[in-house]
Amino acid sequence: MPRPIEALVHSEALAHNLARARAAAPDARVWAVVKANAYGHGIERAFAGLRAADGFALLDLEEARRLRALDWRGPILLLEGVFEPRDLELCSRLGLWHVVHCNEQIDWLAAHKTQAPHRVFLKMNSGMNRLGFTPAAYRGAWARLNALPQVDEISLMTHFSDADGPRGVAQQLAAFEAATQDLPGERSLSNSAALLRHSAAQGAPDAARLATPVRNDWVRAGILTYGSAPDYPEHDIAHWGLQPTMTLRSRLIATQQLQPGDTVGYGSRYTAERAQRIGIVACGYADGYPRHCGTGTPVLVDGQRTGTVGRVSMDMLAVDLSALPQAGIGSEVTLWGCSASGAVLAIDEVAQAAGTIGYELMCAVAPRVPMAVAPAARS
Ligand SMILES: *Cc1c(COP(=O)(O)O)cnc(C)c1O
Repeated sequence: MPRPIEALVHSEALAHNLARARAAAPDARVWAVVKANAYGHGIERAFAGLRAADGFALLDLEEARRLRALDWRGPILLLEGVFEPRDLELCSRLGLWHVVHCNEQIDWLAAHKTQAPHRVFLKMNSGMNRLGFTPAAYRGAWARLNALPQVDEISLMTHFSDADGPRGVAQQLAAFEAATQDLPGERSLSNSAALLRHSAAQGAPDAARLATPVRNDWVRAGILTYGSAPDYPEHDIAHWGLQPTMTLRSRLIATQQLQPGDTVGYGSRYTAERAQRIGIVACGYADGYPRHCGTGTPVLVDGQRTGTVGRVSMDMLAVDLSALPQAGIGSEVTLWGCSASGAVLAIDEVAQAAGTIGYELMCAVAPRVPMAVAPAARS
C-alpha cells in the first residue's frame, strides 16, 4: 500500500465557485485564472470543473499549450504578456491574447510578422508598481499599439493592490478611469477580492465606498474559484458561498498515550498536562503542509475537528485525540478540504495558523503527493 496521503480536486466545487464569480458580475465575462498550474490543482485536473469559463488567464506559454491540447478553442490570455519576441510566434499560432505592459513588448509586436492580428490587453500601472504603463504614459502606448497592423482589438486593464483590505480600490480606480475615459475597448480590472467586495452585486461590502462600483467587461477570477476567501479572516468561504476545491487527506499511522509531562515531537514543543491520547498522521512539510503551523492548528479526524500538537516534521505530524476515543490507525485525517462525511475545513484556517494565505498552501502541495480528480459526489 502506498503511503496514505493524497490530494483530491473537486470538479463540482470548481464549477460552483465559478458560477459564484459570474453571479457577482453578471454582465461580465469571466476569466478563470489558471496560472501556477491552476493554483496547484493541475490544469488538466481543474479543466473539467472550469470549462464553463469564458476564457483562461495564465502566465506560462507552456500552460497555454496544455490548454490548447485539452481542445480549448476559446480565449487564453497571457497575464504578463510575452517574455521575448519569439513568444509572439506561439501567440499567433495558438491564437493567444496577451497583455502588453511595457514599450519593449510594443517594439516586439511592431517587428512581428503575422497573418492574424493579435488581441491585446494594455496594462496600466495604476499604483501597484509591478507591471504596466503609468497613467501619464498610457494613452501614448495605446496610440502606438492602435497604429500597428499586428494589433487587432485593444482592451484596457489594470490590477488592484488592496482590493481585499482597508485601502480599497478607490484611488487606483480613479487613476484608471481618468486616463481611459475616452478610450474605446473592453475593460478588465477585478481580481477575486475586487469582484466580491467592490462590484455592483448585492452584498459587496465596499461598493458603497466608491462613486460607482468597479465595472468590468472581463473579470479575472482566481483564488475564489479555488475555494479560498480573498479577504479571510474578515470573511470566510461560507460567507461568500464558496466550496473547497482541493482536499489534502491522509490517515493515522500510529497512536500514542501520553502521561502528564510527556512531550511530543522535535524540540519537545508540546508538553501534555494530563493523560492524553494523540494520533500520528502521515503528512509533513515534505508533503507541502506548512511547518509553521503551531499546536492547535485545526484538522479533521474522521470528519471531527481537533488540533495538531507539537512541531510538524518532514513526514509526520501529531493530532490531539482526547475527544476522539474511536479514532485509531487508519482513521481518515483531513488536513484541509472535505472529509468523507462532508465536513469542511477551509484551507484559509490552516494558512492563517501558518502565517500565510490559502494561495501559498494550494500551490505548494509537494510532487510526492498523488493528486487526482475526486469521483463525482453522489447526491
Ligand atoms: C493572479 C492574478 C489574478 C487573480 O487574482 P486572485 O486574487 O487569485 O483572484 C488577477 N489578475 C492578475 C493580473 C493576476 O496576476
